[in-house]
Amino acid sequence: MNFDDALMPPDPFAGDPNDPASFLEPEDDEPDGPVTDEERVLLREDLENVRHFRALLEPRGVRGISMLCEDCDELHYYDWPIIIANISTILNGETVPVHEPGAAPDPDFYVSWEYCAGYADAVDWMKEGRRGTTPRWF
Ligand SMILES: [Zn+2]
Repeated sequence: MNFDDALMPPDPFAGDPNDPASFLEPEDDEPDGPVTDEERVLLREDLENVRHFRALLEPRGVRGISMLCEDCDELHYYDWPIIIANISTILNGETVPVHEPGAAPDPDFYVSWEYCAGYADAVDWMKEGRRGTTPRWF
């Protein structure tokens, strides 16, 4: 990636057809069943991303991801292990229960997928900027 004339970190979804995440937008028109090879690739990507997000954010106290449910138009809160289990379940061609209310989750401990993606991107960006340069404090 080229950050030369970018004052802001680039849009993490730029050129990404998987926006924001394939498992967040189930194809309502299609019956549940075996996932296609294409879906499988996207799901594996999601799984990789979620693991990455978790590694970055769990140590900071973030318990999981909040997602707007299209059915009830409310935010649902998913803990990291549940998200990972859900994606794995879809990969196995099984149906995931969409409404999975936790025991009164505290919204303060959950962030959106977009937040995770931006955070991960910023971390990458900072690493990129430092590569090959001597830190100022040395
Ligand atoms: Zn719902």
